[in-house]
Amino acid sequence: MRGSCLCGGVTFEVTLPFRRANHCHCSRCRKHSGTFGLTQGRVARSQFRLLSGEQLIRVFSPVGGKVKAFCSECGSSLFGGDWPEGEEISVRLGSLDDDPEIRPQYHTFVGSRAPWDELPEDGLPRYEGGP
Ligand SMILES: [Zn+2]
Ligand SMILES: [Zn+2]
Repeated sequence: MRGSCLCGGVTFEVTLPFRRANHCHCSRCRKHSGTFGLTQGRVARSQFRLLSGEQLIRVFSPVGGKVKAFCSECGSSLFGGDWPEGEEISVRLGSLDDDPEIRPQYHTFVGSRAPWDELPEDGLPRYEGGP
């Protein structure tokens, strides 16, 4: 399945299945996204392939948090975790163009969510910090 940034410069391909997926409500993801945080899925590196736009991807490393990799042309949030290293790739689910066939399984960092961030009654486990 395919994914891409808003301007289309960065494209990638993921071979399913994703290992896990979650909503993160931490302050770093919130600032980076401009909304509640982000929703990501983790996939083995061997199941991920960057198709185009490697030169457009910039990486920001926030103090105390995982990296935020984004498109320098359009600003789309794309990857995280230990990008470009690591055994797994964290893919922002909003960048996907097809159904990842996994649904978010838990919420992290609900203890530092925004005051206006009302958690849905989705029955998913909630962690004050990391899982
Ligand atoms: Zn872009
Ligand atoms: Zn976060």
